[in-house]
Amino acid sequence: MRSFTYERAMTAHTALDAVSKTGAKFISGGTNLLDLMKLEIEKPGHLVDISRLPLRDIEDLPDGGLRIGAQTANSDLAAHSHVRSRYPVLSQALVAGASGQLRNKASTGGNLLQRTRCPYFYDTAAGCNKRDPEAGCAAIGGFNRIHAILGASSSCIATHPSDMAVAMAALDAEIELLDAEQAVRRVPVTEFHRLPGDTPHIETVLRPGEMITGVLLPPPPPGRQIYRKVRDRASYEFALVSVAAVLSTEGGTISQARVAFGGVAHKPWRSVEAEDALTGRPATMATYRAAAEAAMQDAVGQGHNDFKIELAKRTLSRTLAQAAQAG
Ligand SMILES: Cc1cc2nc3c(=O)[nH]c(=O)nc-3n(C[C@H](O)[C@H](O)[C@H](O)COP(=O)(O)OP(=O)(O)OC[C@H]3O[C@@H](n4cnc5c(N)ncnc54)[C@H](O)[C@@H]3O)c2cc1C
Ligand code: SF4
Repeated sequence: MRSFTYERAMTAHTALDAVSKTGAKFISGGTNLLDLMKLEIEKPGHLVDISRLPLRDIEDLPDGGLRIGAQTANSDLAAHSHVRSRYPVLSQALVAGASGQLRNKASTGGNLLQRTRCPYFYDTAAGCNKRDPEAGCAAIGGFNRIHAILGASSSCIATHPSDMAVAMAALDAEIELLDAEQAVRRVPVTEFHRLPGDTPHIETVLRPGEMITGVLLPPPPPGRQIYRKVRDRASYEFALVSVAAVLSTEGGTISQARVAFGGVAHKPWRSVEAEDALTGRPATMATYRAAAEAAMQDAVGQGHNDFKIELAKRTLSRTLAQAAQAG
């Protein structure tokens, strides 16, 4: 690991001031950043510890929504009574991620900004455009079993690993950002992460010197919420494919649907195609399968991950059937 200096910030203002130094970076739970520093993939010269900032509250909003402070631990968010009762898809997604110990350290802001689990990104001997622009992509033509089937480019086929962000995408959450001039802006979760294009090293729309201060959830959508995660091991494993679904039915007809996938793209993948194929249709297996076909109409396998296209279709169909049955 390269040497670095460290300071702990106690207010957002001092943190933003400190991070404006060249080579400075925020550290929150450190569960992703420290691993990357040990491998010298991340090389900050200065760490600004934001883990003690007063951004841990989960507050009800006047419109019936919820505001989640960026420093809220994943375990606290999953266990919060209002999240469990009103946003169960979010609680289920969080509990499906990592391990108990990691969830105690991992923060809401850090989870959104965690980096890909592409093994070539972590292997500093391999060519990787995300780690080293212009170096090529060892995953294309390599062992790409866990890689993207939607929205990939000829520069990068990595996926975003967060479970939490997939549920937030289905819930229409917005990310709150603060800069050193104290300007606040909000970005929908679905627009926060970028597709790789020819600049896969630019992963989000976060501007230099900006901090995530919170996430805003609108009032819960009507219907039954389910998060289903398919992975190689029953626990402590990233998703091969995951689905966050919210389904509302009236008299056997689907009145509203929200669908987002994880493990399939460089970002949490909200599927408008699936939602359109569901709304106003009978709540039957034929409709769920048609929605799954629509969701995957542009999916492209990379060889080893071809199986993910059918896996994603089946995962969505099963999740929707479960949601309709329980609703
Ligand atoms: C073995 C293992 C298994 C895991 N399994 C899963 C899984 O199944 N599902 C899943 O979703 N995740 C999984 N994770 C990832 C884990 O959830 C993330 O590492 C964690 O959420 C990152 O949060 P953190 O607070 O530790 O971030 P840090 O490591 O502290 O920071 C990550 C990045 O975010 C930046 N950052 C942090 N907070 C802010 C902020 N408020 N504003 C601006 N920038 C900020 C940092 O500068 C850094 O670049 C796993 C991790 C490990 C090690
Ligand atoms: S898929 Fe992306 S992260 Fe993985 S090696 Fe290729 S460029 Fe790097």
